[in-house]
Amino acid sequence: MTSVFRDEHWIGGAFVAPGSGDRIGVENPYTGEVFGHVPAGTAEDVDRAVTAARDAFDGWASAPAAERGAALGRLHRTLSARADEIARIVGLELGTPLKIAKAVQAGLPLTVLAGYAELAAQPPAEETIGNSLVVHEPAGVVGAITPWNYPLHQVVAKVGAALAAGCTVVLKPSELTPLTAYLLADAVAEAELPPGVFNLVTGTGPAVGSAIAGHPGVDLVSFTGSTVTGRAISHAAADRIAKVSLELGGKSANVILEDADLVKAVKVGIGNAFLNSGQTCTAWTRMLVHRSHYDEAVELAAKSAAGYTLGDPFDPATRLGPLASAGQKDRVRGFIERSTARLVAGGLDAPVPAQGHFVAPTVFADVDPDSELAQEEIFGPVLAMIPFDSDDEAVAIANNSKYGLAGAVWGSDERALSVARRLRTGAVDVNGGSFNPFAPFGGYKQSGIGRELGAYGLAEFQQVKAIQR
Ligand code: NAD
Repeated sequence: MTSVFRDEHWIGGAFVAPGSGDRIGVENPYTGEVFGHVPAGTAEDVDRAVTAARDAFDGWASAPAAERGAALGRLHRTLSARADEIARIVGLELGTPLKIAKAVQAGLPLTVLAGYAELAAQPPAEETIGNSLVVHEPAGVVGAITPWNYPLHQVVAKVGAALAAGCTVVLKPSELTPLTAYLLADAVAEAELPPGVFNLVTGTGPAVGSAIAGHPGVDLVSFTGSTVTGRAISHAAADRIAKVSLELGGKSANVILEDADLVKAVKVGIGNAFLNSGQTCTAWTRMLVHRSHYDEAVELAAKSAAGYTLGDPFDPATRLGPLASAGQKDRVRGFIERSTARLVAGGLDAPVPAQGHFVAPTVFADVDPDSELAQEEIFGPVLAMIPFDSDDEAVAIANNSKYGLAGAVWGSDERALSVARRLRTGAVDVNGGSFNPFAPFGGYKQSGIGRELGAYGLAEFQQVKAIQR
C-alpha cells in the first residue's frame, strides 16, 4: 500500500505547520482505502499565505520578463521530472486509468506550463492610442480554487498563467485530490521560485475556499468548479469588487449532420463523452444525430459503450476507472434512475467491478431535449441521444442549454463550420479537430466568465493602464 501523508502548507517559500492539527483523509476511489491526508486549513492559514503573496508581489511583478521566464522554465523542468509520479498520484486519488493519466493528467499540464514559460519571457505588449501609451500590468495577488477532475491541469492553467503575468498566487486544490498539488509545491521548491510567489493551502471549500474568495488582500479570484460554487465565489468577491474568472460546468452537444462520417463521429463522440469516466466539464454529453442516421448511430453508440473495460486504474487493460467518490456515484445513479428515456446501454443493473465507485457506461436514446438528462450536468459516463431533422433544429437543440462551454459538429467542412459558428459556446471541434492547449478556453452563459490557456489565459491576470502624454 502506498501512503502519502502531507502535514504542511507551502507558504512564503517553505513548508510550514498549519494553524490547526485537523487533517483531511484522501481516499482511493478504486480500493476505498484512505491512503493519505493533508492539512484541513483555516482562515488563519489563508491569511498567512495572502500576506506572503502580497509581500512577494512587488518583486515578482517588477522582475524582468526574462527572469520570470527563466523561473517558469526551471519549474517546468522540475515538474516534468515528476511526470510519472503525477500520473501515479492522480491514478490513486482520482482513479484515472494510468495510460490516460500519463497523457492527459500529467502530459497536458506540462505542455501548458511550457507554453507559459515561453510567454512569461516575452515583455507584455504595449500599444499607442493617440496620446496614450497602453500598458498591461500584473493584476495582483491571485486566489486560485480548483476542482478534482483534472487536478494538475486546472491548477497549472491558473498558476502558470498568473505567474507568467507577474501575479503571485495562493492555491487551494480540491480536498478530494489535493496530493497532486503537493508535487507542484515540491517542484516549486526545487526550482527555487522566489518565496511567496506561489503558496499552497489545503482544506475544504467552506473553510479555505471561502476565506480566499472573501479575503481583502486577494485582487483576483480564479475558480474552476461547479456553477453553484462559482456563484457563491462571485458573491463573496463582489463585496469588495474583486476581479473574478470562472470556469464552470457544461452540457455540450455533439452535432452529427446528415453528411457526416457517422462511424467516426459516433466513435470519437463516445470516447469524448466517457473520457475520465465522464468527469470532464467539456464532455459532449448530448449526441444530436440527423434522423436519417439516428437508428444506426444509436446502435453504434450502444455497442461502443458496451465495449469498455472497467477496472483497476493501474491495470493496462482498463479503459474506464471508477468515479471520484461515493457521493459522485450516487449522484450519477440518481440521474439514471430518474430518466424515463430509452436505455440502450449500461444502466443501474449493468455489471461493474465488485469494488470501486463504478457506474457502467450508459446510453439513453430518444431523450427529451428539455428533460433533466439533457439539461443537467451529470459528470459521469452517461450519454443522451437526440434526433433532429434539419441543421436549424440541431442548432436550436444544441443551444437549448443554460451552459455554453464546448461542442462538436460533424459534416461536410463548410456546412459543419457554418453550424459551429451558430453554437453559443466557447469552443467547438469540427470533424474531430483536436484540443489545442494554447487556444482560449472558457464558457458562454452559465459555463463561466473569462478564458484560460495560452495568451488569452494570461491576459485574464493583467490589468490595462492608459498613460497619457
Ligand atoms: P465544486 O464547485 O464543488 O468545488 C470546486 C472547488 O471549490 C473545490 O476546491 C472546493 O473545495 C471549492 N469550494 C467548494 N465550496 C466552496 C465555497 N463555498 N467557497 C469557495 N470554494 C469552495 O466542484 P467539484 O465538485 O470539485 O468539480 C466538479 C465541477 O467542476 C463540475 O460541475 C464541472 O463541470 C466543473 N468543472 C469545470 C471546468 C471548466 O473549466 N469549466 C473544469 C473542471 C470542472
